[in-house]
Amino acid sequence: MDEIVNLCKRRGIVFPSAEIYGGFRSTYDYGPIGVQLLRNVREAWWRSMVQLRDDVVGLDAAILSSPKIWEASGHIDSFADPLVDCRQCHERWREDRIAGSCPACGSKDLTEARAFNLMFSTHAGPVEDESTLAYLRPETAQGMFVNFSLVATTLRRSPPFGIAQVGKSFRNEITPQNFVFRTREFEQMEMEYFVPPEDAPKWFEYWCEERLQWYVDLGIPKEKLRLRHHGPEELSHYAVQTADVEFEFPWGFDELEGVANRTDYDLRAHAAASGQRLEYFDPVSQDHIVPYVIEPAAGATRAMMAFMLAAFDVDEVAGERRNVLRLHHRLAPYKVAVLPLSKNDALAQLVSKVLEMLKPHYMCDRDVTQSIGRRYRRQDEIGTPLCVTVDFDSLEDAAVTIRERDTTAQVRVPISELLQEVSGRLDC
Ligand code: ATP
Repeated sequence: MDEIVNLCKRRGIVFPSAEIYGGFRSTYDYGPIGVQLLRNVREAWWRSMVQLRDDVVGLDAAILSSPKIWEASGHIDSFADPLVDCRQCHERWREDRIAGSCPACGSKDLTEARAFNLMFSTHAGPVEDESTLAYLRPETAQGMFVNFSLVATTLRRSPPFGIAQVGKSFRNEITPQNFVFRTREFEQMEMEYFVPPEDAPKWFEYWCEERLQWYVDLGIPKEKLRLRHHGPEELSHYAVQTADVEFEFPWGFDELEGVANRTDYDLRAHAAASGQRLEYFDPVSQDHIVPYVIEPAAGATRAMMAFMLAAFDVDEVAGERRNVLRLHHRLAPYKVAVLPLSKNDALAQLVSKVLEMLKPHYMCDRDVTQSIGRRYRRQDEIGTPLCVTVDFDSLEDAAVTIRERDTTAQVRVPISELLQEVSGRLDC
């Protein structure tokens, strides 16, 4: 874990936010490499959940939202964690995450737990009173419920179909922890899949398997993943079935994503509060039906961390230790790095020509400083699958060397065939 945190800082992946001021309450900024990696996680999710399917459409709902949404959904009343104070050292903890004693000082002298609402509130407008109260969304899901009828009507959809959304959510977590695993500002990738009520158990099983497989397909070994079904005491107020996709983090198996059968709870709650009909017409039974909802809800920032942990490897190349992120090519921040053997004008010009050829197709890096060996190591450490080296012979034979991250194998190819050679080696 320390190695990943250190790598993230050293290589421009994740920085502590406001670091020049000493940091700010477990918030993080994604650096030039991290922003690419996070984008690729999101895009891999969107590709699998929207692009490759014909039963799911996308949505991007507002982050700043009406209190009416959160009243109806039950978040204002019950989106709370049990907060306890340590009477000895005055630290505050989430009661369900500690084993009866203060993790800071070991004291068992804790206050009674009280419900602490996790939503961030603010005011939309110049007057700070009840009339302008607004919330930062604590989950993206409600955007899909309140837009259900608009999406179904405008896109002419009826169950089974899904609405997918990726975006920021905010929770005033009592104890943010484990780097970007639990933060107050984070990114979610959620899909609400609306189904005929009687089909809900079947679709719940389907989505549990699909979602587990997504992580496997993107390179997480199966043995580091598991599906854990919730017992009745653990279920949220809106769910009748929930299973977590868990990953083996350095501290043990923990949640990556939750798959829940939310029943018709949310649509009925919003229909009652808004007076609008949130249902579909079933031509067979000639009935208006409120669909059930199966929700796979994942965290993008949490998934990014899991992909890095699973991909991190240390091996030896020519007797030297090397750090390598064996990321799936689709997730790799840069697909290709183009490296001139030395700083020389003629080589620089040829590198520009090569980059012009590759950049419209792939995210590429140009790296010119330090020895070629050091540059290979730097690219290995951020997971770049291919390095293309331009040397003095390239000026004569119009060919370059492709080096593969995982095997370090090298092959010489004519520049005229480079794009095709690169495409053939990339799995993305
Ligand atoms: P927990 O019980 O751990 O607080 P949760 O079960 O309430 O979390 P969900 O509401 O199911 O979480 O959120 C869906 C997904 O969003 C989680 O599986 C996780 O990947 C991500 N997520 C939730 N809270 C956070 C957070 N504070 N920081 C980062 N990711 C989060």
